[in-house]
Amino acid sequence: YHDRDGFIWIDGRMVPWRDASIHILTHALHYGSAVFEGERAYGGEIFKLTEHSQRLIDSAEILEFKIEQSVAEIDQACRDVMAANNLVDCYVRPIAWRGSEQMGISAQQTKTHLAIAAWEWGSYFPMEQRLKGIRIGHAKYRRPDPATAPSRAKAAGLYMICTVEKHRAERNGYADALMLDWRGRVAECTGANIFLIKDGVIHTPEADCFLDGITRRTVIDLAKQRGYEVQERAILPEELGSFTECFITGTAAEVTPVSEIGHVKYTPGQISETLLNDYMALVQPKRKAAE
Ligand code: PMP
Repeated sequence: YHDRDGFIWIDGRMVPWRDASIHILTHALHYGSAVFEGERAYGGEIFKLTEHSQRLIDSAEILEFKIEQSVAEIDQACRDVMAANNLVDCYVRPIAWRGSEQMGISAQQTKTHLAIAAWEWGSYFPMEQRLKGIRIGHAKYRRPDPATAPSRAKAAGLYMICTVEKHRAERNGYADALMLDWRGRVAECTGANIFLIKDGVIHTPEADCFLDGITRRTVIDLAKQRGYEVQERAILPEELGSFTECFITGTAAEVTPVSEIGHVKYTPGQISETLLNDYMALVQPKRKAAE
């Protein structure tokens, strides 16, 4: 991703894409002191931008470093990056990290840096695959106990096990992996939340030890507006076979139906399709108005 034209916003300056580098002794590289966001712009507008900027600041605070910029300044910088790169439909990646001013676990003297990149990034899962439903495998690593890791932060360090599990899934022919939490309950995928449906009721794990996704909350609201019952509760892996539909949600994944988890099969049905369409209509209001 480093060898391309364009600009990346770094600490208030637009830097040519290829020059956007950091020092090897950056604290974040050694000790995982980085937090980030993933946002999507549709028709020139970043969906729920302010919620993402606020979550970035909250994530940094959980890791005890302070981002200098305000929510409004981060919002504006995200828009500026899109404009500088002539982007209308794109993915936006803000990242904040501790710099190279001090080495060692103590990082009191480090500066907090903030960078924002944006690029065209199509569907996380190809649309054709998405409508049929993606296949998900089982992960070995589990989401950690909140007493073990800052599980509410979108922290870079929480993703090292996600990459291992995404690779394991891909090696075994799956698109993603279902991770349990430390208690052995269904938690989420490597970069998306999960919903399961039976008898017209939507079930989703309580977000008490993993990211309570902005898409997750949006889809719960959309489901309630449709009059569907949504139960946020503990879901055990033994129950997976009792559901008929399943989908995952995330900024990148949007709403993606699931056809299989391990050996359990699902058929993307009316509820998944309704919520997929409602979500796309919400994030793409201009497209809807033009239809
Ligand atoms: N869980 C994880 C681990 C994620 O990386 C993401 C994507 N940010 C999500 C859930 C979904 O969050 P959101 O809907 O806010 O993108």
